[in-house]
Amino acid sequence: MKFSILSDSLNKMESTTKRLELTDYLVELFKNTPQDVVGRIVYLLQGKLRPDFEGIELGVAEKLAIKAISKSSGITSKKIEEEYRKTGDLGQAATIILEQKTQTTFLVENITVERVYETLFKIAKLEGNRSQDMKMKYISSLLNDATPLEASFILKILLGTLRLGVAENTLMDAMAIAYTGNKENRTILEKAYNVSSDLGKVAEVVATKSLQGIQEFKIILFNPIRPMLADRVKSEEETIEKMGEKFAAEYKLDGERVQLHVKGEKVVLFSRSLENISQYYPDIIEKIPKSIQADEVILEAEAVAINENTGEFLPFQELMHRRRKYKIEKAVSQYPITVNFFDVLYHNGNSCLELEYQERRKLLEKIVKEDDYSKLVPMTIVKSENDIEDYLENSINSGCEGLMLKMLDKPYQAGARGSHWLKLKREYRNELGDSLDLVVIGGFFGKGRRTGVYGTLLLASYDEDNDTFTSICKVGTGFTDEYLDQLYQILSSKVTIKKNPRIISEMEADVWFEPELVIEVVASEITLSPIHKAAKDEIRKGAGLALRFPKFTGKIRVEKFPEDASNNQEVISLYKGQKKIAHGKSLM
Ligand code: AMP
Repeated sequence: MKFSILSDSLNKMESTTKRLELTDYLVELFKNTPQDVVGRIVYLLQGKLRPDFEGIELGVAEKLAIKAISKSSGITSKKIEEEYRKTGDLGQAATIILEQKTQTTFLVENITVERVYETLFKIAKLEGNRSQDMKMKYISSLLNDATPLEASFILKILLGTLRLGVAENTLMDAMAIAYTGNKENRTILEKAYNVSSDLGKVAEVVATKSLQGIQEFKIILFNPIRPMLADRVKSEEETIEKMGEKFAAEYKLDGERVQLHVKGEKVVLFSRSLENISQYYPDIIEKIPKSIQADEVILEAEAVAINENTGEFLPFQELMHRRRKYKIEKAVSQYPITVNFFDVLYHNGNSCLELEYQERRKLLEKIVKEDDYSKLVPMTIVKSENDIEDYLENSINSGCEGLMLKMLDKPYQAGARGSHWLKLKREYRNELGDSLDLVVIGGFFGKGRRTGVYGTLLLASYDEDNDTFTSICKVGTGFTDEYLDQLYQILSSKVTIKKNPRIISEMEADVWFEPELVIEVVASEITLSPIHKAAKDEIRKGAGLALRFPKFTGKIRVEKFPEDASNNQEVISLYKGQKKIAHGKSLM
């Protein structure tokens, strides 16, 4: 497949922010893509080479790319840097430079998607001393044969600056239309995506085997399953209203969610955001096979830091000490954990997702042999507000955050937040009754002590209906110097030139970020706002919702996707909840 077909499409997509137009361009692109290339096209559209869980990073620095452009064009690095400074985008700068060059000496050969992909793959795999030189050679050989437009997109993919604003849902809409003729079939594609976390694979299957192939899509051991999520409730009463007469209550442990894929001695661990985190838990890899009585399983557990002397649970933050590249052995002995299992998703060749909760729990109890290290999450069946209150009390006394309430007869809904699981926390840390997880979308440079870092951040909630991030508040309190530095480090790599089309905000931030990082805030109140865009028009025409007196809690939620942030439905229910309390009809 000619790479020019892809670069022409990318060029059109970059010029629009409208979801429907993006979908049309994608459908056209898929129709022009041979079946055996579609998987690779889907990864490239997302600016990657393989699904995230494989952890393949392109890792090309700007300096190296500039050298490669210089080598291909004969123009000095200094001149290229000047052009880059003017345009703010290296891909665009390369187009301008190579266009000048093409008019004189440039020889252009047709390059293919396959060749670009293979070369990028080789670049990603290079390691060691001579890797920088080799990378440069590979890049400049591609640039030599590329048209200026192609070169610009090759560079954007390489540098991770391709910003199309196409969300996974838009990609799946387009696949459904292109390969099954009906956008409604997106939900079937979504199911396949939810069990494989691999959109390229889903595209290959639907392109070659259409709807039937995708309906028969199976769980693949060592490919992570997208986790089931819980809605929040604020009181025992509300829990009973939503759950009915009889349901399970489990301790909600404050650790890291881990999805364990086990076959014999081979164990692979995925985080809640589906990153391979095996390297941080060599102790789990070593110890778990002894506690598992099955040939092949996918289990879910919460890894929790403990006090070795007393066995007490410690808060989530303790686990972050393990997020390091070196001396992990030391961190393992300094920050011991227990692994607390709460679900089974796959067992000896069969999916367990369709099994009812109570059947899965029974199976889990058979599979896991408990010891000091591997445990089952404490669970009981509850029937009344009193039962819930008692168990909540026990859970808090053991150092947990609260309870997870689970319907007994419901399947595991991969990738979905629904009402079959609820979470109840006994932490009325602020007047709202709960914290919010919000996406950092913009930054404002600080003054005084905060010069050189972002002193204030612009935050957004997630709008599920439109798959966008809507501004909800600016936050400037709760940051220690250490947090300011840490956030600056993380956010610097997310700065964009243009505001990402998924960001909905009328504010003028000093810098815009890719909507990726989630942080936790508390606030005193939710109010109607003429400026902010969260849940706009839902309560009152022309007004959105905003947080009053927001404060950063110190929790950077690295384990969360932006789509896992508090959504506008949750914001609306918090807004309504506070009104009820104000009117003396407290739910607590
Ligand atoms: P939250 O992060 O507040 O949305 O709460 C959901 C998280 O609670 C999950 O992602 C798990 O990491 C964690 N968790 C703790 N205990 C349990 C449990 N018994 N069942 C499911 N999730 C749990």
